Amino acid sequence: MECRADFHCHSTASDGILSPSELVKLAYEHGVRIMALTDHDSTEGVEEARRAAEGYPDFTLIPGVEMGTDIPGGEVHVLGYFLEPGNAELQETLQRLRDSRRLRGQRMVEKLQAMGVEVTWEQVERFAGDGAVGRPHVAQALLEKGYIDNISEAFEKYIGRDGPAYADRTKLTPSEAVASIVRLGGVACLAHPRDLEDLDGVLADLKAAGLAGMEVHYKYYEEEAVKRLLDAARRFDLIPWGGSDYHGLYGEDEPFPGGMVSPLPDESIEALLRLGRERAAEKAR
Ligand code: AMP
Ligand code: FE
Ligand code: FE
Ligand code: ZN
Repeated sequence: MECRADFHCHSTASDGILSPSELVKLAYEHGVRIMALTDHDSTEGVEEARRAAEGYPDFTLIPGVEMGTDIPGGEVHVLGYFLEPGNAELQETLQRLRDSRRLRGQRMVEKLQAMGVEVTWEQVERFAGDGAVGRPHVAQALLEKGYIDNISEAFEKYIGRDGPAYADRTKLTPSEAVASIVRLGGVACLAHPRDLEDLDGVLADLKAAGLAGMEVHYKYYEEEAVKRLLDAARRFDLIPWGGSDYHGLYGEDEPFPGGMVSPLPDESIEALLRLGRERAAEKAR
């Protein structure tokens, strides 16, 4: 179902296929009127997205970011909303994380080459362009050379967390990511939490660090997962948010912006907008 809000989307500033302005246009065409641009470790797309949004008087662009962190046995992704790209401390943090992404991309290419898989760093750089380097760019290189038939297969065969060509990088811990988003004046939200083994443990930890919400209405989450996550959100006093996590990478079954199976309720949309207004008022003071 189409939803008028989508709080999780990627552009070419990280591993999305569309430029920020193309993304805004696509989202608008699919009925989205409030969209958060949440690139991995980057706000470099925000300025262009804002300019594109000015072309639609009834469209609101929320600046955001997604930070990847690790816990034993899994990954925890944290979204930050209303972070201002002009903040020097924010940019220092993001630059450091992006630098580690480049090194880690090179290490994955080296591991692949050592396995006899002939992908090159030049290919990965070409797919990443100016954006934050991510595993999907390595996957695109593998796809181009015919080693896989789709992006997901790259994760299954090579670069998934337990894959033979996976390489680690510098990351914040989950609570450091939340705390730094909060310290920088943003709103923190736990991304795609459905498959976390110890969800309650993670939520307790992150709530203490200042987490405001979690994704409940995510891309393909069906009724059962949504119910369970809503219950967890209630127990930890978190606002249920969500989005499509649109990348444009995953073929014709990938939901478009706003195309979550379970759309965001109005209260959730209004709650984020209200927090944004509060943040803006605080900053103006
Ligand atoms: P990275 O940020 O470089 O660690 O890469 C994580 C990104 O890879 C996610 O944001 C997704 O876009 C993509 N991704 C992660 N796991 C998978 C998977 N199993 N299949 C397809 N794409 C994935
Ligand atoms: Fe991604
Ligand atoms: Fe994510
Ligand atoms: Zn994402």
